[in-house]
Amino acid sequence: MKYEQPDDHGYFGEFGGAFVPETLVPCVDELKAAYFEAKKDKKFRSELEYYLKNFAGRATALYFAEKLSKEYGFKIYLKREDLCHTGAHKINNCIGQILLAKRMGKKRIIAETGAGQHGVATATVAALFGLKCVVYMGSDDIKRQALNVFRMNLFGTEVRSVDTGSKTLKEAVNEAMRDWMANVKDTFYIIGSCIGPHPYPVMVRDFQSVIGYETKKQIKDIEGRLPGTVLACVGGGSNSIGMFYPFIDDGKVNLIGVEAGGRGIRSGMHSAAIAGGRPGVLHGSLSRVMQTKDGQISLTHSVSAGLDYPGVGPEHSYLNKIGRVKYVTVNDGQAVEAFHMLSEKEGIIPALESSHAIAYLKMLRGRLSKKDIVAVCLSGRGDKDLDIVRDFKN
Ligand SMILES: *Cc1c(COP(=O)(O)O)cnc(C)c1O
Repeated sequence: MKYEQPDDHGYFGEFGGAFVPETLVPCVDELKAAYFEAKKDKKFRSELEYYLKNFAGRATALYFAEKLSKEYGFKIYLKREDLCHTGAHKINNCIGQILLAKRMGKKRIIAETGAGQHGVATATVAALFGLKCVVYMGSDDIKRQALNVFRMNLFGTEVRSVDTGSKTLKEAVNEAMRDWMANVKDTFYIIGSCIGPHPYPVMVRDFQSVIGYETKKQIKDIEGRLPGTVLACVGGGSNSIGMFYPFIDDGKVNLIGVEAGGRGIRSGMHSAAIAGGRPGVLHGSLSRVMQTKDGQISLTHSVSAGLDYPGVGPEHSYLNKIGRVKYVTVNDGQAVEAFHMLSEKEGIIPALESSHAIAYLKMLRGRLSKKDIVAVCLSGRGDKDLDIVRDFKN
């Protein structure tokens, strides 16, 4: 099936939409109008470009991993999102959304966070623009990620503890939505991945697609041709959709999304919504969701906090359905092995999330030739994961 843009209601085929309480409908509509207007505005685009370049440090390098390429027998290029300010791709999206918030005249920013990565990126841009910021975080996550809470506090952000349900990311999103409903007039909700009601999945994809556009230009400059394969890890799906999107119409480029297989799909302890979920509504849109027989959201597991989410952006469910992107899984042990391998071989410590994409290179061994090019999105750096890797037991 051929890829088509979503319709006006944000449906990619059967997936997407905006499943929100009635009180939120006007906010979502206001956001939609503001975003599609801003997208066409030259001034907005040049402001976005300015901060991506001068604050986040773009363009990021596309790095030829020479030793790794020799070892695996094909050419491997790493898109270095780990070199972005704050250490991952999340800042791209946060800069885009806060500029939109400013344009809409909003005075207050809210966000949800799991391990704290998106919370820190949001707190960073809130400090940059001097806006008041509240981040919702599960109470269990607050205990586990005390340093990230302190980081957010340094930026002047208030972290609000969420003590319900699993006390993690899923509940933090629910609380942020509740806050948004109560404070629509002056508040902008910065969502951290390509999930949520329309227009978030489209908007976040647009803000992250700078990753893929740069990669495309850089690889053409270096190699004079496109890669045969593009790889990225999939949590909510924002770094991967950003990497894939500019290649979607290049039919010869194989796109591969790597989900967190945790302790194996059959164990039930994983976070692979494409491989192990089915269609359902979560956080405002219809997509593949990990759920029980009666539609309750399942508990998830991954060694990497950033992939530990029971849903996935609707565009991924659609790309899976039409067969344009192939989705695979990598388990905890394989990801940790890749974490060590990249550190030793290339002097780059990858985030555990990104390590999932790196790990899949091994599965391509023997299936590609010396001339083949693989581009991998290295979504973030691994400094935040040192404790977990040091204590990891398979
Ligand atoms: C949050 C995070 C991810 C997962 O989120 P996506 O929306 O799927 O990109 C991946 N890598 C890093 C480094 C992250 O911080």
